[in-house]
Amino acid sequence: MILGILNETNDKRVSLLPEQAEVLTKQAITVWTELGAGIQAFADDNNYVAKNASLKARAEILQQADLILTIHPLSSEEIMQLKSGAILVGVFQPLFHVALMKQLASKMITVFSLDMIPRTTRAQSMDVLSSQANIAGYRAVLLAATLSPRYFPMFMTAAGSIPPAKVLIIGAGVAGLQAIATARRLGAVVEVSDTRPAVKEEVMSLGAKFIEVEGAADASKAGGYAVEQSEEYKQRQQERLAASVAKSDIIITTAQIPGKKAPLLINETMLNSMRPGSVVIDLAAATGGNVFATQNNATIMHHGITIMGNSNLAADMPWDASKLYGKNVLNFLQLIITKEGNITLNFEDDIVKGCCITHGGSIVNERVMNSE
Ligand code: NAD
Repeated sequence: MILGILNETNDKRVSLLPEQAEVLTKQAITVWTELGAGIQAFADDNNYVAKNASLKARAEILQQADLILTIHPLSSEEIMQLKSGAILVGVFQPLFHVALMKQLASKMITVFSLDMIPRTTRAQSMDVLSSQANIAGYRAVLLAATLSPRYFPMFMTAAGSIPPAKVLIIGAGVAGLQAIATARRLGAVVEVSDTRPAVKEEVMSLGAKFIEVEGAADASKAGGYAVEQSEEYKQRQQERLAASVAKSDIIITTAQIPGKKAPLLINETMLNSMRPGSVVIDLAAATGGNVFATQNNATIMHHGITIMGNSNLAADMPWDASKLYGKNVLNFLQLIITKEGNITLNFEDDIVKGCCITHGGSIVNERVMNSE
């Protein structure tokens, strides 16, 4: 079996590091690495060769590999080159890329999208959303601290006192919780908003204040995720958030609803109430953003407020992000590859079934089928 590791074109991460590739070469799998695939994650080509992988051109991998690892979706032209029956493993956001999934199905490609892995205890070691969101939350706070013209911690100096920075974090999922912990470590005073009342205790245990809004929609059947809220709730939430937004030095937004556009939580009036010099980092930028002026993959100035829209901050820390991503991938591969290095797809396994998007020429994932 030939397994190919592609070079990510717009991302510094790599889907498998050399020492992780070695686990597979020891299973008698032939590993092909695209030239330069790991360079931006500080793993050069020689490191792969030292672990018994071979260096190949991209086209060779696309055309001949039985199993291909990539983080981002391939282009339509590249899909045309794939070998019929090959397996593709990555993070494809299939709910937003149904047409691409259909094309992959028609080429008889089996797609495993690791962002669709169920959020269960057994799947935690393969949960790329968690490993990467954790990094994004940490990175967002460090970037905010660098962009801010103010200190985070309180200081009492001979030249005067500095109050601690006020940080507002919206969305206390994996990224948000790490952002809270990091901002608290730097000495900020932190307030948090989330529609899931269940996170209140976690937020408070990290030393932050939870902004309560009554009447959130019941999310108990959404697998731990948030669901869309009523207009009345949104109105109440905006009223409760307005005062916190106006006094914040830093805002980090992470609010997402799987498969849907991100909720707009900070409107123009709220944004304009912030002081010049404030910083907003919107991690939901790729799905529309939580903030009125967010532009995806751009940092802009809006009335003196710096607004960064970036949903891929994990790629800013390619060393650790690749290490954790690769470990998630390796753990997943052990479910679909035997000890002897052969592919075996067991769709009775809820993890294999849950993240399989296309197989046997069709879209097989119900959520993707229903999202059309
Ligand atoms: P996410 O990225 O989907 O969303 C981020 C946060 O935004 C969530 O906490 C969500 O409730 C919140 N949010 C959505 N709409 C909002 C709104 N209008 N206002 C304010 N906040 C809003 O979340 P995630 O980090 O992927 O985590 C989703 C869930 O999965 C959490 O319950 C988390 O604990 C759970 N989880 C479970 C496992 C596991 O058991 N293996 C692993 C990771 C995460």
